[in-house]
Amino acid sequence: MTAQLDVAALKSQLTGPMFLPGDPGYDEERATFNLNTPLIPAIVVGAATVGDVQAAIRFAAGNGLAVATRGGGHLVPRSGAGQLLLTLDRMTSWRIDASRASVRVTGAPRWGQLMEPLAEHGLAGMNGSSPNVGVVGYLLGGGLSPVLSRSEGFASDHITAIDVVNGDGELRTATATENADLFFALRGSKGNVGVVTAVEFGVFPIRTVYGGGLWFAIDKLAEFLPLWRDWAATLPEQAGTSVGIQRLPDLPGVPDPLRGASVVHLRYSYVGAAAEGEALLEPFRKLGTPVFDTVAEIPFSASGTIHNDPPAPLPYFDRGTGLRELPDEALVRLVELTGPDSGCPLVNVEVRVLGAALDREPAAPDALPTRGLAYQFTGFAVGGPDEAEFMIGWLRKVIGGMRPWADPRQMPNFISPEAAHTPQELRDTYGPELYDRIVAVKEKYDPANLFRVNHNFVRS
Ligand SMILES: Cc1cc2nc3c(=O)[nH]c(=O)nc-3n(C[C@H](O)[C@H](O)[C@H](O)COP(=O)(O)OP(=O)(O)OC[C@H]3O[C@@H](n4cnc5c(N)ncnc54)[C@H](O)[C@@H]3O)c2cc1C
Repeated sequence: MTAQLDVAALKSQLTGPMFLPGDPGYDEERATFNLNTPLIPAIVVGAATVGDVQAAIRFAAGNGLAVATRGGGHLVPRSGAGQLLLTLDRMTSWRIDASRASVRVTGAPRWGQLMEPLAEHGLAGMNGSSPNVGVVGYLLGGGLSPVLSRSEGFASDHITAIDVVNGDGELRTATATENADLFFALRGSKGNVGVVTAVEFGVFPIRTVYGGGLWFAIDKLAEFLPLWRDWAATLPEQAGTSVGIQRLPDLPGVPDPLRGASVVHLRYSYVGAAAEGEALLEPFRKLGTPVFDTVAEIPFSASGTIHNDPPAPLPYFDRGTGLRELPDEALVRLVELTGPDSGCPLVNVEVRVLGAALDREPAAPDALPTRGLAYQFTGFAVGGPDEAEFMIGWLRKVIGGMRPWADPRQMPNFISPEAAHTPQELRDTYGPELYDRIVAVKEKYDPANLFRVNHNFVRS
């Protein structure tokens, strides 16, 4: 395909490098976290300036190419085969305004790059469970912070301004009052309306968090789940929790007591006095001796240790759904599907508790579909293409097994690569009214649907 494209003309307009398949550096540029969902672009532009982003988008528009964006590489819903890929690492910067508790990022920073610089000012951002996730991709999908979301809502509720290059190659700033329709669509529809070059958002004066993980042997699961559900319902907003039902690999990097273990992982955080956080955890101290215990008062910048997500890329499949409720029958079913006698091979099946500030409407309308949703339920299977049928079969069994309690909505950041690929599926996830409002903005700012290497909003 590139043979017919005047790539020399594009290159002459760029400050940053351009890569074609086979070029040194091409593979590094297109690398993503999930080795099962590679990007296979015809051209990669390693943008170094906003001008590079604009030139690349105009070139793609003029040549009928779709545009993909790789930020932190943690969710690639489509392969991007044959398209123009923009990487923004060379534009990465951040400016912290401690007096306003605000930060402006450009390019593609990962949360892990920001956490220490914020901590130096006594500040904390609303990062997710893994510090390796990209800040911008995360914010555009809402951003569910395991530590701060129940008290502060979605990370995207705290965005004050977004710079974005749309399908016409124009750079626009979106705020609650300027290009308000763009500001609405960007906070929830991810990369559908353009390539974001900068975001400004609020952060919080927090230095430490009491939290970590308690891992129990999986034969405790039936006793653990009702205790956890009832306890979670009583927690104050400063506390966050989720549970992971895990079969951990016997690999370096997994802490020794957990290597090869089948466990139930209580994730817990409390923003406040350590003694209060410890007192709240009391019911689980009575459950027996955990296999592994990392709960302590920790610097906020170490909050990634609560989930302990894998840091390095790996091949995996995932599926998820929202859950409306977890009555006793649902918990019994979950034990049948994932418990000690289930034969379940999934590395992690998790339930995240939502609610509290996540149910509050933001100051300016946004495109997130999940306010009022009780839980996000997600399964992860590690394995390459040769195990796809087996692992996806198990994901379908576990996610499908919880269907009686499922909600069609789920967190945009948790929609798996294989899910919501048809307009109808995506419409069900967002609800028809919100879906149509997003489509209207998309048609205004990206009428040619350049930004379709995505969970794509199109008129259905
Ligand atoms: C291990 C792991 C843990 C996670 N934990 C959480 C969590 O706790 N909470 C949570 O909310 N989510 C979580 N996620 C999901 C994560 O937030 C999303 O996958 C997010 O989209 C990743 O962003 P990225 O930049 O790393 O990924 P990328 O794959 O680079 O980007 C994903 C998509 O975001 C869009 N995008 C990225 N950058 C731009 C840009 N500059 N302009 C326009 N569009 C852009 C594009 O549509 C792109 O396809 C987790 C994911 C993983 C793999």
